[in-house]
Amino acid sequence: MCIFCKIVKGEIPNQTILEDENFLAFNDINPTRKIHVLIIPKEHYDSFDVIPPNIMSGMTEFIQKVALKLDVKESGYRLITNIGKDGGQEVHHLHFHLIGGEPVGRLVR
Ligand code: 5GP
Ligand code: ZN
Repeated sequence: MCIFCKIVKGEIPNQTILEDENFLAFNDINPTRKIHVLIIPKEHYDSFDVIPPNIMSGMTEFIQKVALKLDVKESGYRLITNIGKDGGQEVHHLHFHLIGGEPVGRLVR
């Protein structure tokens, strides 16, 4: 079972920000910004590449609620999802990184 499925099952502890029947948001164990939250579906999907659009629709609504809870609606934030090898994905359970709480900077090469 993957590490995020273990978090969903409560086998690995997490700092929960928001949860409902289908989705979970929790603090990244190794935060890269003042706010660094991971948002996942409770059901396992390997990545964004394979998530059914109807699940993604619920995910969108949930992410917007997380942003409200984190009070970043006005200041703004960045959402990232890494996909596969070139995307730099390390945990193969779909997750969005929500980072913010400070200016996150530009995407540079
Ligand atoms: P990826 O590179 O797959 O997009 O990002 C995986 C993220 O999961 C990383 O930012 C990493 O810090 C985080 N992470 C890995 N293992 C754990 C864990 O056990 N608990 C939490 N809260 N975050 C984790
Ligand atoms: Zn999983």
